[in-house]
Amino acid sequence: MTERDIIRAIKAHKNFVVTMHVNPDPDALGAALAMTLFLRSIGKTAALINEGPCPSWLRFMPQSRCCRPFHPPQVGRIRPDAVIVLDCGDIRRIGQVAQFIRPGVKIINIDHHVTNTLFGDHNLVHVRQSSTSEILYGLLKAARCRFTRDIAAVLYLGILTDTGSFGFSSTTPHTHRVVAELLKFGLPVDDLYRRVYETMPKEDLKAFLSLMNTLTLHHDGQVACLTITKKQAAALSADFDLKDKVFGFLRAVKGLEVIIILTEQEKKKTRLNFRSRGRVDVARFASRFNGGGHRNASGGFLDMPLARAAATVLKQIAKAL
Ligand code: 5GP
Ligand code: MN
Repeated sequence: MTERDIIRAIKAHKNFVVTMHVNPDPDALGAALAMTLFLRSIGKTAALINEGPCPSWLRFMPQSRCCRPFHPPQVGRIRPDAVIVLDCGDIRRIGQVAQFIRPGVKIINIDHHVTNTLFGDHNLVHVRQSSTSEILYGLLKAARCRFTRDIAAVLYLGILTDTGSFGFSSTTPHTHRVVAELLKFGLPVDDLYRRVYETMPKEDLKAFLSLMNTLTLHHDGQVACLTITKKQAAALSADFDLKDKVFGFLRAVKGLEVIIILTEQEKKKTRLNFRSRGRVDVARFASRFNGGGHRNASGGFLDMPLARAAATVLKQIAKAL
């Protein structure tokens, strides 16, 4: 489907719920905020709802207060004609927000993951764009949206982070052209960078370093694996994106092909996050574990305790290397 089809679908409805994946990152939140602000600017009603509260390290994003956590009573009050799902390869990623999708409610799916299942009634999936925020820029441009500094800032943050600060292979001339347009709004790039990447409190440093010390290497040092228990996570503040810091640090280590983070969620539920240098397709690998994503970055989960999940994943990765 094209931008035109999506704009036509938006124009045909009045009330929207806008949502994105649980535990949003700046790309998901940026795209969702831009969509919400756009819808309101053209006289639509739009509720921006995530399954959980806005992560505290993202509350600096302009207008982030628009984002509300899901509460079951909302389902009786807010009755959308359409639900716009952003940055989700799989509808299950919106969690309980799916309760708004009653019979007759249209789903508009806007995303950039190769593993996207085209779950929408309308699907705008561009797997060669760096981010959902980059797609949103093109969509809002085609819709003749009056861009504001806030819209420019949230889309810029989405693109900045999903491209690894323009260091991933998903970064294209188009990405840079979009960013050049957004920067015309006078965005304070140094301040935005600091607020997204440089927020780990000094008080967290010791706990972070001792967590890093538990890292293990496997398969001739090609695979690094870190497990995070609930207790270890609780020892750190929510002022920064822990996994992003771990991945960022390990990316600097030469010769690692795959980095695996396993996080204990419940006694028998473990979240999995994967990064690859490029040789191993971790989107495909994650699809074995109820997940998906991109060739170089993906995630999923296993209904197993942490240690068993780690053993399972490490055994399977040997075949993928
Ligand atoms: P992250 O490690 O940053 O959470 O996720 C890396 C990439 O994989 C992101 O683009 C994310 O949307 C995708 N991803 C993470 N977890 C899942 C999952 O459980 N299912 C699917 N389909 N994609 C995921
Ligand atoms: Mn994304």
